[in-house]
Amino acid sequence: MQFIDLAKQQSLIKANLDKRIQDVLAHGKYIMGPEIKEMEAQLAEYVGVKHCVSCSSGTDALLMPLMAWDVGPGDAVFTTPFTFIATAEVIQLLGATPIFVDIDPKTYNISPELLDVAINQVFEKGELNPKVIIPVDLFGLPADYAAIELISKKYDIKILEDAAQGFGGQIDDRKAGSFGDAASTSFFPAKPLGCYGDGGAIFTDDDELYEKLVSVRVHGKGGDKYDNIRIGLNGRMDTLQAAIVLEKFTLFPNEVKLRNEVAAKYNELLSDRVVIPEVENGYTSVWAQYSILAKDADDRANLQSKLKEAGIPSAVYYPKPLHQQTAFNHLDYQDGDFPVSEEMSQRIFSLPMHPYLEVSDIETICGVING
Ligand SMILES: *Cc1c(COP(=O)(O)O)cnc(C)c1O
Repeated sequence: MQFIDLAKQQSLIKANLDKRIQDVLAHGKYIMGPEIKEMEAQLAEYVGVKHCVSCSSGTDALLMPLMAWDVGPGDAVFTTPFTFIATAEVIQLLGATPIFVDIDPKTYNISPELLDVAINQVFEKGELNPKVIIPVDLFGLPADYAAIELISKKYDIKILEDAAQGFGGQIDDRKAGSFGDAASTSFFPAKPLGCYGDGGAIFTDDDELYEKLVSVRVHGKGGDKYDNIRIGLNGRMDTLQAAIVLEKFTLFPNEVKLRNEVAAKYNELLSDRVVIPEVENGYTSVWAQYSILAKDADDRANLQSKLKEAGIPSAVYYPKPLHQQTAFNHLDYQDGDFPVSEEMSQRIFSLPMHPYLEVSDIETICGVING
């Protein structure tokens, strides 16, 4: 059994995928070829925003809007410590200060109540300038944007939605990628919509931000590549990868449905031996991961080794919250600063999740866990 089975998906689209790749080899426009614009147009329409700017990875998709907003030394950027390193790495990379805010124990997403407190504290202290909030749509579930948008208005701070895991999720009829001032996603192969390498995209309704992102993407270009009006990146996505996303995207809306069916089956079959994920009314998760809670770290180790004996892979996202990572030692956080993230990092683990997981496999997995 595989944790994520990409081969099954490929077998469904192999002929068209080959054709898409051959088309790129035939026209030879490997950099910013026509598939780039075609993909950007389709994804912007799906998300329901004006602009999509493709780029080299989900990490650069987070970095580029921060660069466009001139985030740098003296600025505070608020995010969760219970996420992949990239979310906070880009803040530090620009010389700004990551301010961590603990998560809600039910959704694993940033707690709006604690966010309000944290922003207020930074204003009171007066040392840093609160500039951006980066909520993460962890495991595919959008963060609480109704509450976060109110906070962003109250303090006049921007929101950058980290939808690397969230693309395909929604709140009521608003799609992930449409929240905040801009949103970032990743096409890393294991994400809900992946390519066959690295890639990412930024979504926004803001025309001025769009112009800046297009410039940042190619070395801060002005009128052309040899007129440089700001410091930028080589942040482009390959034409070949866009061709692959385009073909995979034909399956995507159905795959979101299938992922939800897999999650529903897990929810139905797992006993209260473990804590299953909760999705509040109005929210749709894209189930980038199906994550459950064991009683404690020993219980988790025990369940994971039982799964392993049965040939079932499992994974821990995330074993160490970011405030406890060596790379962030200089921020002087202490153990105990973010008790919910710390507890979850001891108890959480993720089960195999992909659109083509068979019911019989789900039954086997749940049988092992229920014991
Ligand atoms: C994967 C991921 C990223 C980074 O995406 P890459 O394409 O690997 O650079 C950023 N944030 C979150 C929450 C992720 O899961």
